[in-house]
Amino acid sequence: MTQTRASNRKVLVLAGDGIGPEIMRQTLRVIEFFDQHRIVSFEITEGLVGGAALDESGVPLTDQTMAEALASDAVLFGAVGGPKWDDTLPFELRPERGILRLRKEMDLFANLRPAVVFDALADASSLKRELVGGLDLMIVRELTGGIYFGEPRGVETLPDGSRRGINTEVYTEAEIERVVRAAFDLARKRSRRLCEVDKANVMESGGLWRDVAQKVHDSDYRDVELSFMYADNCAMQLVRNPKQFDVVVTSNLFGDLLSDCAAMLTGSLGMLPSASLGAPDATGRRKALYEPVHGSAPDIAGKDRANPLACILSFAMMLRYSFDMPEEADLVEDAVRRALASGVRTSDIVQPNTGRVSTQVMGDTVLRELEKAA
Ligand code: NAD
Repeated sequence: MTQTRASNRKVLVLAGDGIGPEIMRQTLRVIEFFDQHRIVSFEITEGLVGGAALDESGVPLTDQTMAEALASDAVLFGAVGGPKWDDTLPFELRPERGILRLRKEMDLFANLRPAVVFDALADASSLKRELVGGLDLMIVRELTGGIYFGEPRGVETLPDGSRRGINTEVYTEAEIERVVRAAFDLARKRSRRLCEVDKANVMESGGLWRDVAQKVHDSDYRDVELSFMYADNCAMQLVRNPKQFDVVVTSNLFGDLLSDCAAMLTGSLGMLPSASLGAPDATGRRKALYEPVHGSAPDIAGKDRANPLACILSFAMMLRYSFDMPEEADLVEDAVRRALASGVRTSDIVQPNTGRVSTQVMGDTVLRELEKAA
């Protein structure tokens, strides 16, 4: 384990709205644990985002907070949004613009969505235990290109008066290469297997994805096994035999669909972390933002009922992917695993034979398991 307190690890913490501050409080306790045990320390700056920033300064993300994000090694993000700020606000002032601006200006083009089934929760999956027990796969979705951004787009009126809707799937080689490289790097930190997913049978852009993935493999990643799959087959395989996958890399559109599909294999929104990565700098470190997949859950905000595990697991991803600390990441993930095995459950993952605990008690249990392991 890395024995250092020297902090070249600048982390910007943006808890946001709703349950964001509640789940972040528990995650900060985990971060403090590492500091107190002199395992690793971080230079933490806290800032406002979303509705909280809007209330304070009139915008969902100030220029100063944006600059701090760009100067940080990693951003840890909670969630934004809520009924207080919905609908009446102009689009550019909505809380969600805060996270969209961060993603855009940090140029976070690779979205990592792990789907891990903890043994204690295997029965909460929509699939049978034997299909999902031990599942641990990662979907890497291209986040800044493809059909959601491609031109031409829009709805036009044809000469006969009927309308035509247009969106364009467009990828340059460079856009494909950078996300494919990120996925290969990731596969190297896991079981060295990467599956590139596309619709090369009916889309030329899919053929280009295959071509680029193969070239990148042949030039720099021969130690990683590369395979290809059509997106429709991948959707089917995810629910038929998900354990065949290690890392999957795909376009924005297919990644959007397939990562939600994979997420459901794990049972609960409150358990799902994510990371979004940008290009590596001269030292190899990538701009990065880590956040739970879920939103601000206004229905349970302020009630001490939220599951903090997705946020805590997002911090574990930060340890692994921003700071290259796999042992420390394992420590956090094992503590979560043992906390669940001990039977504690927040309301979202409660089972017939388990009691229901608060956000605070779930945090206490993870901390206790960390203490035992340290
Ligand atoms: P949501 O993810 O906030 O909640 C969906 C359901 O899951 C709710 O019943 C909620 O109580 C439950 N849930 C979510 N996270 C939980 C957790 N950690 N523990 C226990 N239960 C949990 O999605 P929504 O209701 O569609 O959106 C609520 C607000 O969040 C909206 O304003 C939306 O725009 C915003 N949102 C933000 C983000 C983000 O910040 N990245 C993502 C999605 C939605």
